[in-house]
Amino acid sequence: MNTLTSQVSFTHARITLTVWYCSILAIILFIFSLALYSSQSKDFVRIVLLQDFGNNTPRTLTRIERTEILQQIQALRQTTRVSLLSIDGIIMVFGAGLSFFLAGKTLQPIGIMLEKQTQFLADASHELRTPLSALQTTTEVALRSERSLNEYKTVISDVHEEIVRLGKIVNDLLYLSRADSEGIQKTLQSVDLVPVVHDAVRTLEPLVKKNDLELHLALSEKVIVHGDTDKLKQLVLILIDNAIKYTKKGGSITVQLVEKPKPILKISDTGIGLDNAEVKQIFQRFYRADRSRSTPGVGLGLAIAKSIIEMHNAKITVKSTVGKGSSFSIIFPFHSAH
Ligand code: ADP
Repeated sequence: MNTLTSQVSFTHARITLTVWYCSILAIILFIFSLALYSSQSKDFVRIVLLQDFGNNTPRTLTRIERTEILQQIQALRQTTRVSLLSIDGIIMVFGAGLSFFLAGKTLQPIGIMLEKQTQFLADASHELRTPLSALQTTTEVALRSERSLNEYKTVISDVHEEIVRLGKIVNDLLYLSRADSEGIQKTLQSVDLVPVVHDAVRTLEPLVKKNDLELHLALSEKVIVHGDTDKLKQLVLILIDNAIKYTKKGGSITVQLVEKPKPILKISDTGIGLDNAEVKQIFQRFYRADRSRSTPGVGLGLAIAKSIIEMHNAKITVKSTVGKGSSFSIIFPFHSAH
């Protein structure tokens, strides 16, 4: 579904809802007017007699008087009907306008969600198409003619690399779509962040060495938060992995853990940095700053990090200067159960 189709569905849903609101209003108005008209009609004879004779209504009326009274009652009925219909008409016109406005307001969050999902789907398909076409080209070229064992090995290694990339994208997409649809299952408990950080660092140490980077740890003895160990490790991995990816050889990365007054995890690097406009967008799905496009990535890591941070009721602040480096600080809520 493209943006135009989702806009058409939104307008269609808005009109349908407006029709429903108007139908309900029309039914209420009809019942109300009918009740008013029949209660008024009962008084018409009295009103006409009072108008014509005051308090001295004669016991018997002449034929002419009776015809005149009947005509007056008919006229009164007609005027009442016209007045009621005009008032109902005015109310219906205003009601229709108000219904259209309210239908728009009611459907607005759904419309925004629909648009986001459409965009998400388009971006996801685009990201999946790149490794798929790379795989197609590599295998097609390899199949065209007989090759040496070494050449086949290179092809298989390229194919494997693309498959790993595809697998990561699919996993990230699945994670985000689950987080959207069912929310992340909250099984929070007291977690010490220190071993979580050590664990993540152990996983990424080979990458740090491969990129000629220095990694400094400045950790308090114990930093307890209310959290989910696996998700917290995933969060630390995303942030350190980014620091590695976006820092040039010879640079350094520092991971700090502070316990008081609130638990804070801070990951700083001396990398390429970001400007203010970019910082505002980095948590959006598939966003990648221009100067980081030469580095492999999809733009989903920080979106996942954001959902993990929200799950822990934590906050993230980013300070960054182009060419000097960035620091990402996650401030967790104070946790008393030590
Ligand atoms: P990916 O790294 O796969 O592109 P992320 O969602 O993790 O996706 O990051 C989004 C973008 O934010 C990156 O493409 C990069 O432009 C920017 N970014 C993230 N971390 C850093 C960092 N430590 N230094 C500079 N830029 C960063």
